[in-house]
Amino acid sequence: MIKAVIFDLDDTLYDTTLQVDKARENAVKAMVAAGLQTEEEKAAAALAEVVSKKGSNYENHYDDLLNALGCENNPKIIAAGVVAYHEAKKTYLVPYPGTIPTLLKLREKGLRIGIVTDGRPVKQWEKLIRLGLADFFDAVVVSDGHEQKPSPKPFLKAASELGVRPSECVIVGDRLDRDISGGKKAGMRAIQLTRGKHSRMKPADAHEEPDCIVSTIGDVLHAIQTL
Ligand SMILES: [Mg+2]
Repeated sequence: MIKAVIFDLDDTLYDTTLQVDKARENAVKAMVAAGLQTEEEKAAAALAEVVSKKGSNYENHYDDLLNALGCENNPKIIAAGVVAYHEAKKTYLVPYPGTIPTLLKLREKGLRIGIVTDGRPVKQWEKLIRLGLADFFDAVVVSDGHEQKPSPKPFLKAASELGVRPSECVIVGDRLDRDISGGKKAGMRAIQLTRGKHSRMKPADAHEEPDCIVSTIGDVLHAIQTL
């Protein structure tokens, strides 16, 4: 019997893919408006390359962008990018439609709810606070550095904090190679939410096979009843 539901955060509770795309688009636009001598498209491609090389938590994306474009370092242009990025980021940091009603219904049914997410803890908590979801969950496990998904460890930690056995948990996430795989290795049931840029992934091994696939978070309630 399922007693707890453990959610992923990015691209599961809100549209992270859209948020990041829009924030970067807005940053590039603002930098060009502030005097960056290039076309928006070219700057966007160069920025995407910087992010893929240095990772999303790197601090100096825009310095590197100017460098990659062969432009002189210009603090005003960089600041314009930073401000525009954060403005758009805030705008799109809203839960998927149906998220809060679903969480409330799960609670009403007596289920415990948790989060297992990877990333810098302060950054992940900042998202939860801005989403208005910080106080919804009985357990939040943020893995930074080692023991990230698809390790079963963060999932087992969440089950222990929720006071349930792994076999009594179902995890809900967008990534087969992280959420589904990690949850299954921990002995949990797994629901794939087909959202964001990883929605078309195919299972690479048995651990990546979800028990159920849903396209909106609102379908999770019904999916749990079929497990
Ligand atoms: Mg995710």
